[in-house]
Amino acid sequence: MCSMTDLIKRLKNGDELSKSELISLINCDDAAGEELRALAEKIRIENYGHDIYTRGLIEFTNYCRQDCRYCGIRKSNLNCRRYRLTPEEIMRCCEEGYKLGFRTFVLQGGEDAYFNDDRICRLIEEIKGKYPDCALTLSIGEKPRESYQRYFDCGADRYLLRHETANKEHYARLHQQNQSLENRMRCLWDLKEIGYQVGCGFMVGSPYQTDECIADDLLFIKRLDPQMIGIGPFIHHSETEFKDFPDGALEMTLRLLSILRIMLPKVLLPATTALATIDPRGREKGILAGANVVMPNLSPTGVREAYQLYDNKVCTGEESAQCRDCLSIRMKSIGCRLVISRGDSKNTGN
Ligand code: SAH
Repeated sequence: MCSMTDLIKRLKNGDELSKSELISLINCDDAAGEELRALAEKIRIENYGHDIYTRGLIEFTNYCRQDCRYCGIRKSNLNCRRYRLTPEEIMRCCEEGYKLGFRTFVLQGGEDAYFNDDRICRLIEEIKGKYPDCALTLSIGEKPRESYQRYFDCGADRYLLRHETANKEHYARLHQQNQSLENRMRCLWDLKEIGYQVGCGFMVGSPYQTDECIADDLLFIKRLDPQMIGIGPFIHHSETEFKDFPDGALEMTLRLLSILRIMLPKVLLPATTALATIDPRGREKGILAGANVVMPNLSPTGVREAYQLYDNKVCTGEESAQCRDCLSIRMKSIGCRLVISRGDSKNTGN
């Protein structure tokens, strides 16, 4: 117990913990777990007060050329109803989002060849032209550096690309032969060099993940020093080969949120939809463990069911306004408030 307190102190001081120290930290007992949580909450408040940032998520295409083994919209899932939003539909999502107080839009999708660089650039210019006071985040997978540069030059501000796992063997078990951890990391370093605010992240409890993998994730994240980190539990999808694997655990996800908040005090940490899916108060618990961002869905309700990365995703039936109100009430219930702001990271990452 005493040595755990000591480890937590060193984590807070920014010391680089060894892999075995990180492994004992993630497996700590409940008392030390509560110590981590309370410290993470305190650090969140020191840096961001009781403000919770929101991002309007627009899932604009579920066509994907990749075949990630865990993902419901993987190419080989022939039972997935594929869709693409038109530019007009995307602009309507933004318009509605803007009225609801969103000042960050996240365009997320599969790796869809239809949305080539010209089309993506046109979308960026249209959104940034109409909403210059908003930040635009892209989450559209692995691209050549030149593409990232073009999107940035057109006005994209941020890029989310979860690294998924920092362990090479684990990466290979979750993906196909044409995909490599090396390229995923190349993308993240390119994005950072170009000047994006960058987000990485991983799934908690993904198939074949070991404590060692998680320690690798934490060490990699510390080195990348991103502005955002997206983590959420792995949740099985019935149309994937991982359909019989158990879902990631709530407690481990919360603990990792706390560890990340302590490691990178100013980082943006979303309480993800996946967390809300495995627990009815998942988002609130995430915030209390150190998260400070929520990313509700702005996609048209007609397509939300089709953007099914995992089974039983929550909030697929509600209108955007309903989601926003529901979140606002949830945040109030834990003494926080949703703010109307771009919500830039205070981690400059330089
Ligand atoms: N194509 C984009 C967006 C991916 S979807 C890209 O490659 O970045 C966003 C995230 O959802 C993924 O990075 C992955 O971590 C998560 N995800 C996918 N399948 C999941 C599952 N079954 N359970 C939980 N999270 C999942």
